[in-house]
Amino acid sequence: MKVKIKIIALFVTVTLLQHNSFSQRGLPLEIVSNSLEAKSNIINSMNYDNRKLPARYEKETISALSNFPELQNVPVKFRIKKSFATLKTRPTFFSMFKPKGHRTYVIIISDKTIQKLMLITFENLPEDARIGIIGHELSHIVDFSKKTTWQSFKVALGHLNKHYMDSLEFNTDKICVDHGLGKDLETWSSYIRNSMHTVFWRGADYVNKVNTHFERYMNPSTIEKYMKADSATINAH
Ligand SMILES: [Zn+2]
Repeated sequence: MKVKIKIIALFVTVTLLQHNSFSQRGLPLEIVSNSLEAKSNIINSMNYDNRKLPARYEKETISALSNFPELQNVPVKFRIKKSFATLKTRPTFFSMFKPKGHRTYVIIISDKTIQKLMLITFENLPEDARIGIIGHELSHIVDFSKKTTWQSFKVALGHLNKHYMDSLEFNTDKICVDHGLGKDLETWSSYIRNSMHTVFWRGADYVNKVNTHFERYMNPSTIEKYMKADSATINAH
């Protein structure tokens, strides 16, 4: 009986994660040079397979990835395709059955969604905002790659709870800021709010609902608050 329950639980986990983006602590800040050449060198020293990067957005991807040295042995693939959510990340199907450290992740960049969201598709974002949102997706991978299969199950179930998702996404933004991409994430955050005429952004699923207080994704002022806290921590050392 117990085995049967476990099998069902695993099936639910896989199904949920395949249909949802797990949308998601940080390491000390890395001091990263701003030149693309320096960032490319970091990627090369990470032994990262550049062939898995989206050719069209290689510059932004390299920029973001260079802030995540802990992902050097984590396979991450990028796909550009039609998808309702403008950007999402998930483990590949078979990865869900594998222990942490053996999973492959896919970041899906949408090139076609509903009209109302087209303005905020990746292609239409300013370059810094693209770096920021890729940083957010990589932060999901940092978070998820530390979880055991059963912790993954909890995350998958959490997708059914909007308040769980609020805190998961907020913490993912925090990981992104802790990785030194606060400025880029702030550009994304401001762009989304200006384009969608809202103060708070809760994601594509809520695009047709009025949201007056759920800060699922950090507001620009919150990102700045965490950036200041991070630099105060660094200066104290
Ligand atoms: Zn997310």
